[in-house]
Amino acid sequence: MRPLFERPETLREFVRLQHSDSKRDLVVVDRGKTILADVPGEEQNVGTAFGHDRGNEIGRTLEDGQPRDFVEESADVSEAINLVVVPIEETPGKIVGAVLFEYTPLLNAAQNRTNAMLWLVGSSTAAAMLIAAFSAFLLLNRFGAGLSSLNRGIEALARGDSGARIGHASEDEFGQLAKGFDTMAAELESSRRQLVDQKAYIEDIVRTVAEGIAVIDGDGRVMSVNPAASDIAGRHASKIEGQDWRSVLEMRGPTGDRLGTGASPVELALATGRRHQSEVRLVKPDGSQLPVIASCNPLNRADRGIVLTLSDISELRSAERAVNDRAEELAVLNRELRETSEATNRLVKLGELLQACVTFQEAFSVVGSAMPDFFGGLSGTVHLTSASRNLVEEMAHWGDVRSSVGQFAPEDCWALRRGQEHVAGPGMLTPHCNHITENGGRGYVCMPLAAQGETLGIVHLTEPNAADRPDWLAERKQVLRGVVDTLALALANLRLRETLRQQSIRDPNTGLYNRRYLEETSSRELRRLERSGQPMAVIMLDVDHFKQFNDTFGHEAGDLVLKQVASTLLDHARESDVVSRYGGEEFAVMMPGTSLVDAAERAEALRKAVKQLHLTHRGRTLGTITASFGVSAFPELGASWAEIVNAADRSLYQAKADGRDRVVAGLRKTDPDWDLSTPDRSAAEG
Ligand code: GH3
Ligand code: MG
Ligand code: MG
Repeated sequence: MRPLFERPETLREFVRLQHSDSKRDLVVVDRGKTILADVPGEEQNVGTAFGHDRGNEIGRTLEDGQPRDFVEESADVSEAINLVVVPIEETPGKIVGAVLFEYTPLLNAAQNRTNAMLWLVGSSTAAAMLIAAFSAFLLLNRFGAGLSSLNRGIEALARGDSGARIGHASEDEFGQLAKGFDTMAAELESSRRQLVDQKAYIEDIVRTVAEGIAVIDGDGRVMSVNPAASDIAGRHASKIEGQDWRSVLEMRGPTGDRLGTGASPVELALATGRRHQSEVRLVKPDGSQLPVIASCNPLNRADRGIVLTLSDISELRSAERAVNDRAEELAVLNRELRETSEATNRLVKLGELLQACVTFQEAFSVVGSAMPDFFGGLSGTVHLTSASRNLVEEMAHWGDVRSSVGQFAPEDCWALRRGQEHVAGPGMLTPHCNHITENGGRGYVCMPLAAQGETLGIVHLTEPNAADRPDWLAERKQVLRGVVDTLALALANLRLRETLRQQSIRDPNTGLYNRRYLEETSSRELRRLERSGQPMAVIMLDVDHFKQFNDTFGHEAGDLVLKQVASTLLDHARESDVVSRYGGEEFAVMMPGTSLVDAAERAEALRKAVKQLHLTHRGRTLGTITASFGVSAFPELGASWAEIVNAADRSLYQAKADGRDRVVAGLRKTDPDWDLSTPDRSAAEG
């Protein structure tokens, strides 16, 4: 039998029949790439060299006997045609030509992933199919009954039985064909085994990866999903596969917003054939949304499908959220700390200002101007309990709202009654204080001002919109406490200071100013009167024979007498007079604006008043007492306080010398009696 290649007419008939069956291109070339047979319509190519393999794939296959695939390069074909070139060996190793056939690159994707094995099996199967068809053709053309076993083997192989062998031992052309077939079948079988292993390996990876993987075809239909993808999508794989991706993998923007048409990475990849990746939210059947990174990689397939990879980033996002929340909390804390430290600074400043105040009046003017800063627009008052403890009086007010009456009795305030803060307002069961006006009725607090064990009064704060701002007090409680404590302490200090001052300038027995105070004030007064050209008089008086009185009635009775003389002096004094106990049973009255003559008259009146005192002690009549008076005045009797007092003293001693119970006024150094009187006391004491 002649070799196949020497029967070109048979080859051409085979090619023609194959083409009419399969509608696919089929070309046979010889060792020199010259076309021996081509499909109908292309017969004019027979005898010419095949030149559409740019990489000389056919030449290389004819050289090394390895099947190859390539894309036909031609100006007259509009669409790229995928061709496989398979060598034809006359005897093992002796390549006489090759057959080219068109194929659909079903396995192209795998091939692109360098899985040469898949491709080899594909092309080998195609070659086997071709040879099967070719031998059947030969058989039909009655080339010999010896071909029947070969045909059976080929058919078995074509059915997928890769274990099929022919074992034909003849040495003729068919024997060689059978051997070649057996070799090919053996290779095919081992390739299949490797393929199955690799496929299982790849499938294993795809099944176990954490990323969801879905294959979507060019029409948007989901071809397959791995378990992770079905987990992420929240649907069973069977509910996803075969469906349009939009109906089972609904995507939203990263913040849950609806995506415009064509904006999802899937649509972009399908439309452009390029890789697209973005963060989206996958809407699950229960409506919940899962943040994922969706990567779409186009498959190199005829239907332009894609592989969609879904990476669940919900943990990442929730970690981010936690970090953001923490940052937010920190910011709030910082703000609070800053506010607190501002309030603390303000409190410290208030404390310093109040400490610097000498009088209550000063302190309350500080309070009135400082409070609005502390309570952000809320109105309020400071009320103090009077020394007699029967009246509570407003000392400072701030803000636009008046919510308490100016004066009330201590029992009208619950905070004073109970010694603790009292809050009342909408939705509260606590009673309103009696001192509250209609404005305050809508929400207020009274805080007792307590320090050093004493309640001095209250701080009262009002929020007329308390119904709309239930937190109004809670927000300010800390500041309010600080203010109340600072204020209470400052007021208690002021009160204490005032007491100490009074103690230092007054005589405890009579309550009159002491000599120290008289001297401090008198010099100042004198300068003032000097400037305005006014006079100033001084009356000095001394109780007569007081030693004897003490001896007779006792010291206690003596003290009582001194008290009564003091109150007689006060009764006769004017507002501007300073009545003082000069020492022992001696008194001095400074009378600004009073002349020597007027003072002498008033001294006379005093003398009579003292003499008329009805003195009793513990039911015992003490009789009467008398006193002697010396009167002096500026400017007649001296320019300085010392000179005037000295003159008064001299007059007093003159009165004593003259027989007591009398007034001596205006004794000068130049008067003849001056030397008769007792020597200058200040000089003697000095
Ligand atoms: P003369 O008329 O000369 O002033 O006689 P006198 O006794 O009042 O004068 P003297 O200076 O000898 O005595 C003053 C007395 O006044 C001595 C003292 O016992 C008494 N005395 C001074 N201070 C007090 C006081 O605070 N209480 C009492 N009970 N007696 C006092
Ligand atoms: Mg005396
Ligand atoms: Mg005396």
